[in-house]
Amino acid sequence: MRRYSAFAIAREGARYHTGWERAWKSPAPKKRYDAIIVGAGGHGLATAYYLGKNHGIKNVAILEKGWLGGGNTGRNTTIIRSNYLQDPSAAIYEKARSLYETMSQDLNYNVMFSPRGVMMLAQTEHEIRGYERTAHANALQGVATEFISPQRVKELVPIINIHGPRYPVLGALWQPRGGTARHDAVAWGYARACSDMGMDIIQQCEVTGVRRDGNKVIGVDTTNGTIDCDKLGVVVAGHSGVLADMAGFRLPIESVALQALVSEPIKPCMDVVVMANTVHGYMSQSDKGEMVIGGGADGYNNYTQRGSFHHIEETVRALVETFPMISRLKMLRQWGGIVDMTGDRSPIISRTPVENMFINCGWGTGGFKAIPGSGWAMAELMAKAASPLADEFTMWRFGEGKFIDESVAAGVAH
Ligand SMILES: Cc1cc2nc3c(=O)[nH]c(=O)nc-3n(C[C@H](O)[C@H](O)[C@H](O)COP(=O)(O)OP(=O)(O)OC[C@H]3O[C@@H](n4cnc5c(N)ncnc54)[C@H](O)[C@@H]3O)c2cc1C
Repeated sequence: MRRYSAFAIAREGARYHTGWERAWKSPAPKKRYDAIIVGAGGHGLATAYYLGKNHGIKNVAILEKGWLGGGNTGRNTTIIRSNYLQDPSAAIYEKARSLYETMSQDLNYNVMFSPRGVMMLAQTEHEIRGYERTAHANALQGVATEFISPQRVKELVPIINIHGPRYPVLGALWQPRGGTARHDAVAWGYARACSDMGMDIIQQCEVTGVRRDGNKVIGVDTTNGTIDCDKLGVVVAGHSGVLADMAGFRLPIESVALQALVSEPIKPCMDVVVMANTVHGYMSQSDKGEMVIGGGADGYNNYTQRGSFHHIEETVRALVETFPMISRLKMLRQWGGIVDMTGDRSPIISRTPVENMFINCGWGTGGFKAIPGSGWAMAELMAKAASPLADEFTMWRFGEGKFIDESVAAGVAH
């Protein structure tokens, strides 16, 4: 069993990632854990961290089939915002955003949180109405957003073309305290903090079965052997349906590939995040200078972690109208991740039909921003059997018709 320093975590990730060293395997630990978390992405690691920090539950193992942060957490475009429409969403996303503000100090690990501001462009009359409504809802929820004019958009983003021939910019929903953070650092920071609390992070350990005594969970089967636990938290994003199947129930989740790309690095030219949902593309500039561009999700279910040329072409073609200067850029690389989509585009943080088994999934295209709030809520749910932040997000809401419709805020955007 291995404990990790931050450096070792980065090195192990890099080794696996580059194939520099053959993946190592360690036998499953012969002990019983108070809790096992499946999935060492941001949400799984944050869940383990708050189990220890907030509830004193430190006899915890985090099992990861690949390397930590190697799923969507290390593949996303890092946009952080909390300007959602419905009250339960605003509560959990704003909790997460506020935790991001102090995360570097809390974890003693620089996650490079950059509250540079996020704007969502309104390029149709419908979007104006939708975003004005969201701005009013946010005012009631205590989330600081405003609807700004095209002129203000141009002041904030000089490289934008607000007079596009098909879709001129008619305004924007602006959240000045939204922004970005370094995605790997979020995973590594939580992982080091978990390791410091004595938790076991076991990479290259795929869960292949859920063990039960009657209807109660007692452990998991893994590629490294069986491991016993009292409570099981499943936090595996695009593979949630697979894990639910192992436990004998179904989830209202579809898994699809979502992709992104970055350009060659250029001098600083844009210091806010811009999302353009009508033309469907969004862009920010990384600290290295690359333009980070988010594209669309595949229109069919699949488990591929790859990009595809037709999406890149569509995304770049759409963005060129709004940002003509990017037509001169060379694209550097592209990738994809498997995202887990629910029908109402809101997450599931829930008990399950199996006693002492909990599930956290359905963050779809926009869960990076939610990592600390989600981990906070999931840990509380696992420790105390209830969490005010998670109350509305049960998996049974779909049967009860209690949808939390965020299709405008989160349908295709991040
Ligand atoms: C291209 C792209 C862009 C995105 N952009 C944004 C954005 O700008 N802002 C935003 O908020 N969100 C964004 N997202 C969404 C965000 O990345 C995800 O919602 C979030 O990272 C999910 O985190 P997670 O910890 O739940 O999942 P993951 O990071 O995917 O972690 C799940 C882990 O579970 C592991 N696992 C799966 N099955 C098993 C098993 N059987 N046994 C053991 N381990 C297993 C996987 O290997 C994986 O490491 C984007 C996603 C993609 C793909």
